[in-house]
Amino acid sequence: MTMREQEVGVFDFVLLDEITLEKFMQNLQKRYQAGKIYTYIGEVAISVNPYRVMNIYGNDYINKYKNRELFENPPHIYAIADAAYRDLRQQNKDTCIVISGESGSGKTEASKIIMKYIAAVTNAHSQHDIERVKNVLIQSNTILETFGNAKTNRNDNSSRFGKYMDIEFDFKHEPVGGIITNFLLEKSRIVQQQEGERNFHCFYQLLRGASDAELKQYGLTRDPSNYHFTNQGSTETLSERNDYKTTQQAFKAFGFSSEEINTIWRTVAAILQLGNIEFGVQDDEIVIKNQNQLKTVSKLLCVTEAEASTALTQRVIAAHGDIMKKQHDKSQAEFGRDAFAKAIYERLFTWIVERINRAIEVPNKKLAKRFNRVIGVVDIYGFEIFEKNSLEQFCINYCNEKLQQLFIELVLKQEQEEYQREGIAWTNVEYFNNQIICDLVEAPHKGIIAIIDEACMTVGKINDEMLLEAMDKKLAHHKHYSSRQLKPMDKELKHKQDFRITHYAGDVAYSIIGFIEKNKDTLYQDFKRLLYHSNDKIISSMWPEGAQDITKITKRPLTAGTIFMKSMSDLVQTLLSKEPFYIRCIKPNDSKSSVLFDEVRVEHQVRYLGLLENVRVRRAGFVHRQRYDKFLLRYKMLSQYTWPNFKGPTDRDGVRVLLEEKRLLNDCKFGHTKIFIRSPRTLFQLERERNEMIPN
Ligand code: ADP
Ligand code: MG
Repeated sequence: MTMREQEVGVFDFVLLDEITLEKFMQNLQKRYQAGKIYTYIGEVAISVNPYRVMNIYGNDYINKYKNRELFENPPHIYAIADAAYRDLRQQNKDTCIVISGESGSGKTEASKIIMKYIAAVTNAHSQHDIERVKNVLIQSNTILETFGNAKTNRNDNSSRFGKYMDIEFDFKHEPVGGIITNFLLEKSRIVQQQEGERNFHCFYQLLRGASDAELKQYGLTRDPSNYHFTNQGSTETLSERNDYKTTQQAFKAFGFSSEEINTIWRTVAAILQLGNIEFGVQDDEIVIKNQNQLKTVSKLLCVTEAEASTALTQRVIAAHGDIMKKQHDKSQAEFGRDAFAKAIYERLFTWIVERINRAIEVPNKKLAKRFNRVIGVVDIYGFEIFEKNSLEQFCINYCNEKLQQLFIELVLKQEQEEYQREGIAWTNVEYFNNQIICDLVEAPHKGIIAIIDEACMTVGKINDEMLLEAMDKKLAHHKHYSSRQLKPMDKELKHKQDFRITHYAGDVAYSIIGFIEKNKDTLYQDFKRLLYHSNDKIISSMWPEGAQDITKITKRPLTAGTIFMKSMSDLVQTLLSKEPFYIRCIKPNDSKSSVLFDEVRVEHQVRYLGLLENVRVRRAGFVHRQRYDKFLLRYKMLSQYTWPNFKGPTDRDGVRVLLEEKRLLNDCKFGHTKIFIRSPRTLFQLERERNEMIPN
C-alpha cells in the first residue's frame, strides 16, 4: 500500500487486495473520513452523502473532468456524467444514468449535479434557445420539488415521487429539450402525515410565503396548525418564505400564465380548506357541519355550493338505466372527502408535470427525431422500511427490485459483451439473482399484484384478511414469502395481518390492512363530474372522464398496483435500450451528520446494494481494462521506452513494451482495442509506481 492509499484508500474497489466485506467497509470509511465521497467499482460510482457543502462542484472541477476518461481523475460524479455524454457524442448512443440508494442517500442531489454538469459543458456558443432549454431543465427541479417533495423523518427534502427525465440532444449534441415521466406520487401524505413529517412543501410555501392579500383571497390564515392536512405531523418552518418566491420565479421561467399560476395555488388552498370540512348526522341525514368551509372550498374550485355539497354527501348510482341517489354515512363521507383531496392533488401534480413537459418539448419534433439522442436520468425512491408498511412501501420496494434486476442484467451483460467483443474468454461469478422476487410480485395470475387485483375484482365483500388468506394459499411455498398464518412463531411478524417479503435488501413486514382499498383507489364518479363542470377551465381539463353520461356504466379503472407495475415495466424497457451508468448512493448515518460513519447502517446498504458482488463480477475475469491509448497516457512515465512518447507503430505495441519491461505480461491479455489486466496486484504495481513518480 502506498502512503497515499493508507490515508485515502483505493479509488476503485477492484483494487482492494482482498474482496471481503471488512476490507470494503474499511476502504469506504477511510475515504469518507478523508472527505472522498466518491469511489468507483469499475464504471459504477459509489457516493456517500457528505451532509455538508463540498467544494468540489465548481467550474474548476467541471473543467478538470470535461472530456476526460474515468481513470484520468479521482472519482467524481462529473466523470460519470461526462462518460454518459461522451458515449452519446462519440458513439452516438442513448445513455442513461441510474441513481439508486435509500431515502436521504443523495439521489436527487446527484441528479441535480449531473444536470448542472451537462448544462455547463454544452452550448459553448451560448445560443439563446439552448440556454433557455438548459435553464428550464434545471428550473424544473424547483417546481417538482415544491409539489413532489416533503419533509420526512429521513430527509427534510424527500422526493415523494419517482422521476425519470430524458434530456434530449440534437445532432450537434446540444440539449434541445426534455421529457419528465413521474411515477406514483405518495398521495396518502395529503391526508395523513406521521409524527415529525410534513405534507408536501407547497402547502407551507403558500401559507408562509404568499402575501396577505393572496391568503385573504383564499380564506387562509398563516398558521399550518389551523388545517387538518397540515397539523398532524410537524409544522416546523424550513425555508418556505424564500422557496415560495423561487417557485414563483420558476413558474415564470416556464412561461406559466398568471391564470395557470393562480389555478395552481388556488387548488392547493382548496385542498387545505377541504381537509377542514366536517360531517355530522342530523335526523339520520348526513350534513356538513361547517357550511362556511363548504362555501370557501366551492369558491376556490369554481363549482356551486349545492353541487359540492351533493358530491360530498351522497353518490349517484346508475343501475339498469335508472339513477338512484344514495346518502353517505359519516365514514363514507369522510372517506370520500379524503379520496377527493388526494385525487385533486394527484391530478394537479400530473398536470404540472405535463405543463413543464410542454415547456421543454423539443420545438420541432420531426427534425429532432432524426438526429436526437438522449441521456435519461433516473431518480426514484429508494428502498423503504417503516414501522408500518403498506401498499406504498410495497410498490416502492418492488420498484427497487426491478432496478436491482436491471443492474444485474446490465452490469453482467455489459461485462460479457465486452469480453466477447474484445475476443477474451470469460468466467462466471455467483451472485444473487433477484428475478425470483420480481416474479413473486409481478407474475401473471400467481404474483402478489395479480392476487390483490383478483380480490379487488371480486363482487361482494372481500376484506383484507380474506385477501391475505388467498395469498397464503397461493404463495405458501415461495421462499421469499411468509406470513403470520404460515409461521405463527415468527416474532418479526407482530400482527396476524402481516405478511413478509424477503427482499434482496432485507426482510420487510407489510400490513395487509388497507391493501384492497388502496389498490382499488376508489374515487366516486360524483367528484369527477363535479370538477369537470368547474368554471375554471384548467381544473375542468384535469377531469375529462367527468364528461361521461351518468347512466353509462363506467369501465373499472386499472388498479393502483397494476398501473405501477406497467409503469415499471415501461421504465425498464426504456432503460434497457440505453447504455447505462450507475450511481449508487449510500447514507452514512440516520442523523444527517457530516462526520458520523455508522458502520452498521452502511454495511447493511453495502450488502443489499450487492456492491461486493459487483466488485467480484468486475474482477471475475479482469480487474481492469483500458483502451491502449488511454493506458499509455496514464502509465507511459513508467518506462524509458514510452516516456515521453512511444515511437513504435501502435499504442498496443507501446503497452506491450511497457508491460514487458515491468514483467507483467503474463497477467495481461490483449483485446482488439483494449488491454485487460487480470489481477489487482498488477494494477497496484502500476498505480504505485505512478504515484511515486507524481507526488499528489
Ligand atoms: P434522496 O433523494 O436520496 O432522498 P437527497 O438527494 O434529497 O436524498 O439528499 C438529502 C440531503 O443530503 C440533501 O438535502 C443535502 O442536504 C444532503 N446531500 C446529498 N447529497 C449531497 C452532496 N453531494 N453534497 C452535499 N450535500 C448533499
Ligand atoms: Mg430524492
